[in-house]
Amino acid sequence: MHKGEEVFITKTGKFYHYIDDDCPTTSRILKGTTTAKTLKEEEALQQGYTLCKHCEKEYKADLADRKGCGSAAIMFIGVCVGFVHYLVVV
Ligand SMILES: [Zn+2]
Repeated sequence: MHKGEEVFITKTGKFYHYIDDDCPTTSRILKGTTTAKTLKEEEALQQGYTLCKHCEKEYKADLADRKGCGSAAIMFIGVCVGFVHYLVVV
């Protein structure tokens, strides 16, 4: 889910942050109190950024969650099917 996606880079930080995680920095960025730009994860790595410790922890928890449970994926498929249905009807 995260691989190849865009990540946040703050002006002063040496770390990159995932956009969808419970990271204090990400939440400040989303609130607009911290300025950040977005980059592809590969580009951030190429430029010498490393994954923020908070985001890394969340990411690992995410992976552990996904191993034991596919219900989120099933829900996602359900949403997609609903959306396609909506397009067809309208
Ligand atoms: Zn972070």
